[in-house]
Amino acid sequence: MPHHLCTNCGTQYADTDSPPTTCRVCADDRQYLGRHGQQWTTHGALLRTHHQRIEMDDHLLGIGILEPFAIPQRSLVVRTGAMNVLWDCVSLVTPEAVDTLNGLGGIDAIAISHPHFYSSMVEWSRALGDVPIHVHEADTAWIARTSPNVRRWHGDDLDLGVDLRLVHCPGHFPGSALLHWTPPQGRAVVLAGDSLHVAADRRHVSVMHSVPNHVPVGPAVIRDVQRRLTGLAIDDVYGFTWGLNVIGDGRRAVDESLDRYLRAIAA
Ligand SMILES: [Zn+2]
Ligand SMILES: [Zn+2]
Repeated sequence: MPHHLCTNCGTQYADTDSPPTTCRVCADDRQYLGRHGQQWTTHGALLRTHHQRIEMDDHLLGIGILEPFAIPQRSLVVRTGAMNVLWDCVSLVTPEAVDTLNGLGGIDAIAISHPHFYSSMVEWSRALGDVPIHVHEADTAWIARTSPNVRRWHGDDLDLGVDLRLVHCPGHFPGSALLHWTPPQGRAVVLAGDSLHVAADRRHVSVMHSVPNHVPVGPAVIRDVQRRLTGLAIDDVYGFTWGLNVIGDGRRAVDESLDRYLRAIAA
């Protein structure tokens, strides 16, 4: 049976004869349905019509989809020397992308910021040798295609290896997470997905319940995020898509942005 894939948000579902009546990711108030309503495809069909975009996005290798499709996020590849991690997923997995990643020494683990970017995470894991997929347990209900490769982590953080740590940053979703990478030589990086939404000026970040529907979070969430990010070294913040990154002075960008947010929503 096919694994149906929502063309609006890019989420792949469990195998069923016919597609679900609605995509619960798109039915949620954080997302929306396009003007033409609910439509479905499959990964096999996507492979015939779409191509992978593989290129550097500032200082990290990005993997996305060349043609317009779904949200559109891009994955990032973190290479620490000790391990390679694929951050966030897109819906399309091509042999070209798998060859590229295997040529870099393979991928040791996949980590995902939040359910909007689960997309085809199980396809990716299987194509890369059944590598573990780390998602925060607070978002378990959003896993549309289950797999033994999905590892649910819990608590405030998860060490993935030397210099590489997942940080729980709830706000956009209950299980939203950041990937924090602090190489001994080099830039301290936060991979944020939508957990911190990089602003269009690429000098500020935000925390939104819904980005496309413009729904902010409340002051308690912002104060909680401030507390969770206290003391983190941050040079760069990578946002959810190509080029939407704060490069340099990331710590200042985060601090000023969250202070500004609190002033804006002060009761
Ligand atoms: Zn959807
Ligand atoms: Zn999102």
